[in-house]
Amino acid sequence: MTTTPIGVENPGTSTALLDVRGLKKVYQGKGRGVEAVCDLTFSVGAGELVCIVGPSGAGKTTLLRCVAGLLDCTAGEVTLEGRKVTGPPPGMAVVFQEYGRSLFPWMTVRQNVERPLKEKRVPKAERQRLVREALDAVGLAEVHDAHPWQLSGGMQQRVAIARAVAYEPHILLMDEPFAAVDAQTRAELEDLVRALWQRLGVTVLFVTHDIDESVYLGQRVIVLSNSPTVVLEEVAIDLPGERDQLTTRSDPRFAELRAHIYRLIQQAKEGHRPSP
Ligand code: ADP
Repeated sequence: MTTTPIGVENPGTSTALLDVRGLKKVYQGKGRGVEAVCDLTFSVGAGELVCIVGPSGAGKTTLLRCVAGLLDCTAGEVTLEGRKVTGPPPGMAVVFQEYGRSLFPWMTVRQNVERPLKEKRVPKAERQRLVREALDAVGLAEVHDAHPWQLSGGMQQRVAIARAVAYEPHILLMDEPFAAVDAQTRAELEDLVRALWQRLGVTVLFVTHDIDESVYLGQRVIVLSNSPTVVLEEVAIDLPGERDQLTTRSDPRFAELRAHIYRLIQQAKEGHRPSP
């Protein structure tokens, strides 16, 4: 018997940390322009771990860049902690897919993690503590004096995660961060993100095209339609909070949720729109 997954009835709560209202983004070119995102509205509560999935080209990266204040919205607005986002907000850190390009190759691991803290003018002793704790948390304490190019892809992505965590953000945005690493490393990094999220209580918005990953990680999955992009459905992930790769992924409920989201993505590709 298949149980219908529970859609989130009232995602906008008064405790929302992040609010996206009527977000539209049109890239202006020589011609008509490209509408990457049509009309997106959703909220993320403080301390939540929310995943965004959608077909390729649905505008996931565009959405994340607008949320991060790296791109201007054409219409609508993004509010973080009650303030409209007009540029990169101080309480936010972002981890991108391209770990190779996001780290400075001439700096050691420690210097890479420390750099944003210097820019934030955190005093030296505090900086050293934060860097040490962050590298410990991602299992890289031993390699703090190595350079990024001496590390594997998975380790480099751990450095990027440590750098984000050391910054003590209120919200952590992750844009397909594990798309370029092998399957085993990817599973380890997924567990690392869940462990850090549970330990630090940070709010996480995680973009992925991998349905299984979104179900394994999220408390809620926001499924995007294809272009013109709107929210197709918000799916509550009612799996136990304690997750591990073997037990969780073999849970019948996991299979139901992934099948439900898979169907939604197929419908999205066929141009299905949410019911009014
Ligand atoms: P996704 O991350 O879901 O694959 P993107 O946000 O990368 O989607 O892209 C959404 C749409 O916007 C695509 O049609 C893409 O070609 C277009 N697009 C993305 N970036 C730009 C840009 N800088 N200029 C013009 N069009 C863009």
